[in-house]
Amino acid sequence: MLEVESHVALTGFNSFGFAACAEHYVEIERLEQLPELEAYLRQQPQPLLLLGGGSNLLLAEQLPGLVARICLKGRQVSVEGERVLLTLAAGENWHESVEYSVNQGWYGLENLALIPGTVGAAPVQNIGAYGVELCQRLRAVQVFDRERAAFTRLLTAECQFSYRDSLFKSIAPERYIITALELELSTRGSLNLSYGALQQALAETESPLTPRHVFEAVCRIRRSKLPDPLQLGNAGSYFKNPSVSADHHARLKQDYPDLVSYPDGERFKLAAGWLIERAGWKGHRQGDVGVHAHQALVLVNYGGATREQVLTLANAIVADIAHRFAVTLEMEPRCYPSLD
Ligand code: FAD
Ligand code: NAP
Repeated sequence: MLEVESHVALTGFNSFGFAACAEHYVEIERLEQLPELEAYLRQQPQPLLLLGGGSNLLLAEQLPGLVARICLKGRQVSVEGERVLLTLAAGENWHESVEYSVNQGWYGLENLALIPGTVGAAPVQNIGAYGVELCQRLRAVQVFDRERAAFTRLLTAECQFSYRDSLFKSIAPERYIITALELELSTRGSLNLSYGALQQALAETESPLTPRHVFEAVCRIRRSKLPDPLQLGNAGSYFKNPSVSADHHARLKQDYPDLVSYPDGERFKLAAGWLIERAGWKGHRQGDVGVHAHQALVLVNYGGATREQVLTLANAIVADIAHRFAVTLEMEPRCYPSLD
């Protein structure tokens, strides 16, 4: 049975802490509710927002239609030799699931510690941190396909993963309701220490390094730089890192020898946080919104801000970065309802 409520406040369900109100709201706790949900939406057509932990969303004050929060729980493990197949239901907490896998001594998820939100949202923007992306650890995504009104399974290659993007984010949003992830981990393996900050944090740690060492180092670094959404509303990185041509990169490097950039095939990835900091925005405050003092990529709500205020600040930053560096910044979180 679907229990649809009306006029539900979602202030506690979005990490920016916006005072958003859902016209209709339902919690999905069992798989059997998904065909019912689809039947309901076909009978009463209306916009749908799938909600996990709300940590990658900019919500308007009034949300038309139905918000369905995915609360499916459960975990299954099968171990074959060194290979571990961990299946997690979509409503499980991501960080707790990473911690569980590290507690078992498994390799694979340690770099993705302390990312807020649910398991089900993790493939949507192919979460990534410290040189690891979710798609590298994923065998398949279990979904309910709304178009076919059927449960199915998409192999990783079918999900069109790229940098902070996937089939679920930009190609077919709201078509697939992610119900579970099948992750491939390992009881033995190698650690990814490619990021300088991680190497520095572990420089004094005695070998052999384990997934737990990396997990704890990632948690330490993140706690020192990133605002806790429970204390200061935010959605993590507000902008994606831009990619520029080799020529453009060479020109920037000439003007700004300390530019932070990384080769990315024939192009170069620029650290968006560096551009924003270099332009003088770090720590800037405009009423109830601002740019975080320890991490220029994070826009924050000091309390009582609306998404319009955040968008106004973000637009000013985008215009300034375009003017100074001829680089277009794109926002990473999703606006709902969308702005166009
Ligand atoms: P929500 O914000 O609820 O939803 C995000 C999107 O997924 C929406 O489009 C929603 O409709 C869709 N969705 C949610 N559940 C489902 C489902 N079951 N099926 C289909 N679609 C669904 N991201 C990174 O990649 N790397 C980081 O290091 C990182 N660090 C962060 C740090 C902070 C402090 C914060 C606040 C955010 C950070 N993020 C990071 C962004 C965010 O945590 C991730 O994108 C996370 O996966 C969002 O999970 P969520 O459950 O909160 O999703
Ligand atoms: P950082 O370590 O200070 O690095 C700054 C930027 O340089 C990052 O954006 C990162 O790109 C890039 N970078 C650093 N070392 C690199 C290397 N060896 N190879 C390629 N690129 C490199 O970044 P931070 O802000 O403290 O964040 C640490 C990690 O957590 C990053 O991976 C970041 O993406 C992730 N994070 C994401 C969010 C989010 O909401 N999406 C929020 C907080 C942190 P990448 O971003 O491509 O990794």
